[in-house]
Amino acid sequence: MKVGILAVQGAVREHAAALTELGAATLEVRTPDDLGAVDALVLPGGESTTISFLLGSSGLFDPVAARLTGGMPAFGTCAGMILLAAEVLDGRPDQRSFGAIDLAVRRNAFGRQVDSFEADLAVEGLDGPFRGVFIRAPVVERAGPAVEVLARIDGAPALCRQGAVLTAAFHPELSGDLRLHRLFLEGV
Ligand code: GLN
Repeated sequence: MKVGILAVQGAVREHAAALTELGAATLEVRTPDDLGAVDALVLPGGESTTISFLLGSSGLFDPVAARLTGGMPAFGTCAGMILLAAEVLDGRPDQRSFGAIDLAVRRNAFGRQVDSFEADLAVEGLDGPFRGVFIRAPVVERAGPAVEVLARIDGAPALCRQGAVLTAAFHPELSGDLRLHRLFLEGV
């Protein structure tokens, strides 16, 4: 089993380190051929408008969409969550998303003055709190009936799952806690 990390832009290395520490084989995915070699895909944080653009120019958008439709497990964090969502609010008009999880997300919605913050999250199925690192984070404004909400921040869904797709509004790769990557790998 090989886990791909979408590596066109964003926090790629930290995800690779977390997955490697858990014993998973990883591959940085930059081309459709790379995608063909992986069984699951992490979509990292970064800038969703840029990642969306680079997915188009690298020829990856349609193959990733097809794999997601085919049930490929995916873990999207922050910008990665935006890319997996059904609906993007305050996006750029040309920004695309995969609609792999029935969420409406609003970009940069925790307020402009507080760009980033940390908060302890109670995650369903985990024993202690998980330290969530939020960086210009999106807010989930709607989660459809098929979505399981595993954690919340200020009442809004922060960690969500629909089938094989897991999304976090925060950066689990930055808190030195491997439990959410383990949760993802258990589903792969
Ligand atoms: N604000 C970014 C976006 O809209 C997401 C920030 C992040 O991934 N840390 O894509």
